[in-house]
Amino acid sequence: MAFITLNKTNFFNNLDIITQLTCTKDKIALVLKDNAYGHGLLEVAAMAVEYGITKAVVRSCEEAQKIENYFSYILVLSDIPATPSQKIRYTINDLAQIKKFAKDTKVELKVDSGMNRNGIEMSELSAAFRQIQKQKLQLEAVFTHHSSADEKNEIYDLQNNNFIKIKKEAQKLAQEYGFSPLRFHSCNSAALFREEDFNEDMARVGIGAYGCLELEDNENVNKLAPILALYGEKLSSRLLKEGECVGYSATFKTQEQCRVSNYDIGYGDGFLRSCSNHYVTPQNIKIAGRISMDNSSFITDKESLLIFNDARVAAKQASTISYEVLTSLKPYLKRSVIEQ
Ligand SMILES: *Cc1c(COP(=O)(O)O)cnc(C)c1O
Repeated sequence: MAFITLNKTNFFNNLDIITQLTCTKDKIALVLKDNAYGHGLLEVAAMAVEYGITKAVVRSCEEAQKIENYFSYILVLSDIPATPSQKIRYTINDLAQIKKFAKDTKVELKVDSGMNRNGIEMSELSAAFRQIQKQKLQLEAVFTHHSSADEKNEIYDLQNNNFIKIKKEAQKLAQEYGFSPLRFHSCNSAALFREEDFNEDMARVGIGAYGCLELEDNENVNKLAPILALYGEKLSSRLLKEGECVGYSATFKTQEQCRVSNYDIGYGDGFLRSCSNHYVTPQNIKIAGRISMDNSSFITDKESLLIFNDARVAAKQASTISYEVLTSLKPYLKRSVIEQ
């Protein structure tokens, strides 16, 4: 069966670089949403704990429960719990959500600083504090998310400036309402790597830890190493004459006599179909024809075929981003941890 390897040495290398930026492991909140970006939730959680990571960020209550014993702090980005938990914090994404949380739930307030996706408006801060108090929730932090931290444009600065204002007002409101001092966080991987001197309470790091962050001219980014590699295994092999076709709709025709083998990895497993007909593996092996649901053919005779070991390179060939390449990988693919 097609399989995935996770390189622990590379993962720890990436975490070392991230720790240099945050100054302490305690400020790293490792983003494990979407099956740890396709790497495998429990596999990555176990490695992270071994490294000394204590905080995690996920999307749902279900994901949080699965890793509850691994971390001392878990932030859920978009789900509302039936009952509160000591360890798990939940995100308020909208003013209208506040009344849906049970009394004593630990919450973090997301404020929209310019992305216009989730979070309350800046002008709603005071209303949010009032409703949080009325609902008897435990507000622990205020945070925001960047739309453009990995690009050179003015929105990044605008959001940072807005967050400075948000922090000031939130601190004032926290005092007024008698809340405990708040924590603040705004950085995803790109923002953390861009930041010259990070001084927030926490950074929410996903793609950087997985070694697939892309940022121009950044020395630290260049030191990151991808941790996931995807392999297919040979199902069958045939010698084709010049001019023979391969796969659905016969879109590929051999230019010369060649050996073509079929591998057990297809778009149903997460090998994106947009790679059909033009994909080239890291070992320079060319795809032959269309990717089908459970199969793809390559001009080679190898038993195990490395499909990709850097999702950024695969993403370019699929006209997408590494995040999509990685999160497309189905949870049932066997994942094993290797050390270099
Ligand atoms: C996914 C996500 C992150 C992580 O972003 P990366 O670019 O992978 O580091 C951080 N914060 C929030 C709110 C997210 O949704």
